[in-house]
Amino acid sequence: MPTDDASQRLEQVRDEIARAAHIADRKADAVTLIAVSKTHDADAIRPLIAAGQRVFGENRVQEAEVKWPALRAETSGIELHLVGQLQSNKAEEAVALFDAIHSVDRDSLVTALARAMDKQHRRPACFLQVNIGDEPQKGGCLVADLPKLIEQARAADLPVAGLMCVPPLATEPAPYFALLAKMARDHGVPGLSMGMSSDFATAVTIGATHVRIGSALFGARA
Ligand SMILES: *Cc1c(COP(=O)(O)O)cnc(C)c1O
Repeated sequence: MPTDDASQRLEQVRDEIARAAHIADRKADAVTLIAVSKTHDADAIRPLIAAGQRVFGENRVQEAEVKWPALRAETSGIELHLVGQLQSNKAEEAVALFDAIHSVDRDSLVTALARAMDKQHRRPACFLQVNIGDEPQKGGCLVADLPKLIEQARAADLPVAGLMCVPPLATEPAPYFALLAKMARDHGVPGLSMGMSSDFATAVTIGATHVRIGSALFGARA
């Protein structure tokens, strides 16, 4: 992707975030744009870095380990977020590589992350993922199980930065975003990781602090 394409897409997405924030009487800089670069190689990522983007998201530990050390060596200030499901046996690698983890969804993972953080003296921000539509086969804890998970994460001293969700496909996402926002308020959790390419403006009007955007920045994935 040529650099001017990348900066154009970035500007469009930022404009849309700013418009949505304005509608909701929020500041645009209260929203962190995570550019989800999964499946895209370093050559596709560099133009976005050149256009000023510093916060990126990946959904697989192994793929990120291949791509990001070199890119980080080229540019300072890169912040890397894990947005995909995490197996407990990859917790150490995840803690070493990522600045934030958006897929903390069960007690066994809380335990594995806490152990890895203690060992490495490094504490990436943690977002607790909620299976907001209670869909079978989807990542995230059940809505009813969230209070217990928050308690477990806090007891284990994880830095609980926010809640995260991916609403069910092909439905109106706003009610799900509103439910996640309510749960965050009820439990005193500050951040809300919600909104992807198709629905991030809606998410921002409902309070998203982190939007995770792939295809609107990089084009469709193969
Ligand atoms: C891939 C992915 C995204 C980005 O999706 P787009 O629709 O391409 O913006 C966001 N969040 C998660 C969890 C993802 O896996």
